[in-house]
Amino acid sequence: MTSNRTPAPAAGASFAALPLGDAMQANLAQLGYTEMTPIQAAALPLMLAGNDLIAQAKTGSGKTAAFALGVLNRLDTRDFAVQAAVLCPTRELAEQVAQELRRLARAEENIKILTLCGGTPLRPQADSLAHGAHIVVGTPGRLMDHIERGTLSLAGIKTLVLDEADRMLDMGFFDDIAYVAKQCPAERQTLLFSATYPEGIGKLAQRFLRNPKEVKLAERHDAAKIRQRFYEVRDDERLHAVGQLLAHYRPASTIAFCNTKAQCRDLLEVLHAEGVEALALHGDLEQRDRDLVMIQFANRSCTVLVATDVAARGLDIAQLEAVINVDVTQDPEVHVHRIGRTGRADQAGWALSLASLNEMGRVGAIEAAQGTEFEWHKLSELAPAPGGPMLAPMVTLQMLGGKKEKIRPGDVLGALTGEAGLPGTQIGKINVTDVFTYVAVDRDIAPQALRALNEGKVKGKRVKARYLTD
Ligand code: ADP
Ligand code: MG
Repeated sequence: MTSNRTPAPAAGASFAALPLGDAMQANLAQLGYTEMTPIQAAALPLMLAGNDLIAQAKTGSGKTAAFALGVLNRLDTRDFAVQAAVLCPTRELAEQVAQELRRLARAEENIKILTLCGGTPLRPQADSLAHGAHIVVGTPGRLMDHIERGTLSLAGIKTLVLDEADRMLDMGFFDDIAYVAKQCPAERQTLLFSATYPEGIGKLAQRFLRNPKEVKLAERHDAAKIRQRFYEVRDDERLHAVGQLLAHYRPASTIAFCNTKAQCRDLLEVLHAEGVEALALHGDLEQRDRDLVMIQFANRSCTVLVATDVAARGLDIAQLEAVINVDVTQDPEVHVHRIGRTGRADQAGWALSLASLNEMGRVGAIEAAQGTEFEWHKLSELAPAPGGPMLAPMVTLQMLGGKKEKIRPGDVLGALTGEAGLPGTQIGKINVTDVFTYVAVDRDIAPQALRALNEGKVKGKRVKARYLTD
């Protein structure tokens, strides 16, 4: 993979600098798109030159128009084969993308764009496909359904777009994406757009992109976004202090690092006694239990993860609002690694550390390594913030049936958003394991979602679901 860290993108540059037709230029002006957004300025020249591309920029930065212009530029309207496919995580997002594509496609006559998402019957979609379409926008599962039934061929694809790639990975769509990508000609252009850059993106890019250029507009580790505070504690008040920090800062997602397994176990007990929903990850767990803990923490149905450094290695968690150092590490590099897990992308994060008098030597070593002096605060300043008990934003539903039953994430998403009519925006990560499927849903709609699964059908079959914890 050739890395092409964005130079300074010419934010505000005019679209006129791009090799686009007159009709398109006029249409852009009519839409009020006078200047390129930074991601457009950085990505469009690379895309129009035919490169595969990985583009990362925060939500609302104009990624849709960026890839839409790339897609439209390669289109031959006289050819009625499907020439571009845009994969999106949910129906809502697919509709938004199709809408933006249609606005931009007005420059040319007769460009046909179809959305193909689950939750609606296949037949009318198949009929529309039979009439010919230039661009299809949809969820990976539904595209796969059409391919399997022979109602969609991707043999004529020139551009494949993976939009909101991070979210598609969240929802467990890797295998479905792989299936769809395999149906496209090898000499296509592939464009990957994402708001964040979790490790999975690299894997995705390696599998499906060819010598991609990379355009990143937000650094993953941004030291300036990490707000570090130290609290002096006595050893006998340390574990209780973790609860005080949580009650005061109310981070939606926290990893509390301990130096030993024993400390993890003790902390977990104290937190549970204080009514905090926490889970622990340490070396004594069996792989199955470890996976379950990870599923719940990553899907935001558990707010606090208590872990040793070894257990947390390789965890790929986006959106961590806080890291708490329950113990100070001996190795300054480990400290930097721990706190680097917060303050990512466009979000600020807290790095809160507890230190007793006999740990001051270690704190000094970390200060020296980081070249800063830390800010000290007192435990007595901490007061519980309003809002009552801290509940995780999501709830995990466990459904009997998984890979062995050939359940795919899209089947579950379809069951919840289709007949049941729940909004895709309130459905979180979907994890399909061998015998179970786990789906995170917004706490607000958890009872409806549970009812929808138990009373409806998934893949045409009745299923059993329950809350994973309660
Ligand atoms: P993202 O996919 O990065 O989250 P969107 O593609 O949805 O963001 O774009 C956000 C908004 O910005 C949309 O309403 C879109 O119409 C608008 N937009 C995109 N490009 C431009 C531009 N060059 N000038 C003005 N508005 C733009
Ligand atoms: Mg987008």
